[in-house]
Amino acid sequence: MKIAIAGGSGFIGQHLISNWLQNKHEVFLISRSQQPTSDPLLTSVTWKDLEQNPHRLEGVEAIVNLAGESINQRWTEDAKRRILQSRLDTTGQIADFVAKLENKPAVVVNASGMSIYGLSETATFDENSPHIHDHFLSDVVEEWEKAADEISASRIVKVRVGIVLGMDGGAFPKMFMPYRLFVGGKVGNGRQVLSWIHIEDMVRLIDFCIENPEVAGAVNGTAPNPLTNDQFGRIVGRVAGRPHWMPVPSFMMKLLFGELSVLLLEGQRVLPKKVLDHGFQFRYPTLDVAMKQLLGK
Ligand code: NDP
Repeated sequence: MKIAIAGGSGFIGQHLISNWLQNKHEVFLISRSQQPTSDPLLTSVTWKDLEQNPHRLEGVEAIVNLAGESINQRWTEDAKRRILQSRLDTTGQIADFVAKLENKPAVVVNASGMSIYGLSETATFDENSPHIHDHFLSDVVEEWEKAADEISASRIVKVRVGIVLGMDGGAFPKMFMPYRLFVGGKVGNGRQVLSWIHIEDMVRLIDFCIENPEVAGAVNGTAPNPLTNDQFGRIVGRVAGRPHWMPVPSFMMKLLFGELSVLLLEGQRVLPKKVLDHGFQFRYPTLDVAMKQLLGK
C-alpha cells in the first residue's frame, strides 16, 4: 500500500513508519523540512513541495495526519495561537491537496484529542458523547475535527488520541521520572482519570482504521481500562519496584506548568467503543500488562 503521513517525524509517526516499512508499504513523509530517508520505500517531501505539485500524492491510498505544534509548553497567547493554527493550516493544506487529486485516497486518518469531551472525574465518554467546551484544548480539538471534515476523501477517521505510553516520546518518560528517583506519588487529588494507550496499540489501532472500511468518523484511541492518576501511579510503582508515596500538590503543578496544568490535574474517562464494536483486540488492555512490556519486567 502507498501511505502518506504528515507529522510523521514525531513520536507516534516514527512508530507508524517503522511498522509500515517492515510490512513493505511505500511511505510518503510530509514534513516542514526534508527528513533523512535510508529506506528506499520511504520518500520525504515538504509541505512546500506539495503546494507546488500536489499530484505527487497521486496513487496514495491512505493519508495519516498527525501534524501540530506540541501542546507540551507553557500556554502563552502566542503558543495557543501556534497550537491551534498549526493544526488548522496543515489539515487545511491536506484538504487542498486531496481536492486537486484525480485519484483520491480511500481514507484520511486525522489525529484529534480527548479534550473534545471536556473534563470530569465521574462521567464516562464514548464517541457518541456530546462535545463539551471547558478549556482551551476543547476548542482546538473541535476546530481541528471540523477542518478534517472538509477533506474530500470518501472516508475520514478522526482518532481522538489518548495519553500514548512509550519510553521514547510522549508524556510517559516525564511521568515515570519521579518513580526512577524513588519520589513517585499521586498528582493533585489523584482522582483525575487518565485514558491511556500503549504506543504499539496506538499504531495497530491507526492501521485498523485504515484497513477497515466500516470505521469512519470519530474513533477513541484509548485502551479499554482508564485509571485514576492514583491507581495509575500505584501500578507504575508496583511494576517498577519503586514506591508510590510522595504526592505533588495542585498548587505546585499550577506554578510549574501554568494553564497547561489543567491536563495534569483533571482528566476524563474515555472508552474505545467504536473499535471494540468493530472487533479490534488490544494487545495491552490493562496498565499492568502495558507497564510490564514498557519497563521490561
Ligand atoms: P509530536 O509532537 O511528537 O509530533 C508532531 C509532529 O507535527 C512533529 O513531528 C512535526 O513534524 C509536526 N509539527 C510540530 N510543530 C508543527 C507546527 N508548528 N506546524 C506544523 N507541523 C508541526 O506528536 P505525537 O506524535 O506525540 O502526536 C501526534 C498528534 O497526536 C499530535 O498532533 C498530538 O497533538 C496528538 N496527540 C498526541 C498525544 C500523545 O499522547 N502523544 C495525545 C493526544 C493527542 P515535522 O517537524 O516533520 O513537520
